Amino acid sequence: MNSILIVDDNVHLIALLGKMLAPIGQITFATSGPAALAQMRERAPDLVLLDAQMPAMSGYAVCEAMKSDPELDRIPVIFVTAHNDVAAEVQGLAAGAVDFISKPFNEAILLARARTQLRLKCLSDELRRRAAVDGLTGLDNRASFDQRLQLEWARAVRSGAPLSLVLLDVDHFKKYNDRYGHPAGDGCLRQVAGALGAQARRPADVAARVGGEEFALLLPDTDAAGARDTAERIRSAVARLGIAHEASATAAHVTVSIGVATCRPGPACTAEDLMKHADQALYAAKAQGRDRVSVEPAPAALIAAGT
Ligand code: GH3
Ligand code: MG
Ligand code: MG
Repeated sequence: MNSILIVDDNVHLIALLGKMLAPIGQITFATSGPAALAQMRERAPDLVLLDAQMPAMSGYAVCEAMKSDPELDRIPVIFVTAHNDVAAEVQGLAAGAVDFISKPFNEAILLARARTQLRLKCLSDELRRRAAVDGLTGLDNRASFDQRLQLEWARAVRSGAPLSLVLLDVDHFKKYNDRYGHPAGDGCLRQVAGALGAQARRPADVAARVGGEEFALLLPDTDAAGARDTAERIRSAVARLGIAHEASATAAHVTVSIGVATCRPGPACTAEDLMKHADQALYAAKAQGRDRVSVEPAPAALIAAGT
């Protein structure tokens, strides 16, 4: 069910609005701007009804704070203004509100406007979700992976935790397509994606398809030993799928080569370095005979940084 946050310093108005909106959403409330922002950061609602006039922090300030916060800027805000206060409405829209309602409330109009915003929010959430997903496998796509890498990178810089990257490439996949046909190749990629996705066990882990037959698994807060174990589990899970590959020079079934890199984000190691090391490890796994996991030895700078 949709969640609606009502923010007003007047508890009677909260009760009134809450009763009117109860049929279309789960209602939560806050009686001040700072409390509302804290609550939103804890759990983002689908719609916020915001009183323009509140002591200490005005509704406009709350709305502006939301619009400058990437975690909150997509939540629609409807301003609640005094009757006929055109200036307040203009100011609310300028602060980033999508609509306004004025007191005294007309229940039918309030419901219609809130419903419209909830429907639009639902639609844009779905569009965003689809834009981040790889159509063939259902994993994150390249663009989404790049975004998540930046996000987890920034998080790891703050926390000082290690970050690991697993890069996987299907072995002799061109020959697989040539031998079994492109649709069968697509089916194979779906199965490999399934085996990889099953190893993305923590909520922050990101499994993505980053190229034609190349996949990545980003493992926040995971050291080199943990990443190597995960990579080995992926390798054996793909082998266990037992997808016949008669044209493979490596085995009678589909295999993957995997490169692993780990670093502690900071001045000594950038996100590009992490990608580069994982890529070099993958290249080494291919060169050493495929169907194996290779870990890029950490350069001295990374060891010095504590990885
Ligand atoms: P290696 O063991 O060195 O990785 O050899 P490879 O043949 O797997 O590597 P190469 O890069 O030469 O070929 C990758 C192949 O993957 C070529 C391309 O046709 C195929 N491919 C890329 N994207 C898709 C896709 O979406 N579906 C299918 N069926 N094949 C794809
Ligand atoms: Mg490749
Ligand atoms: Mg390949």
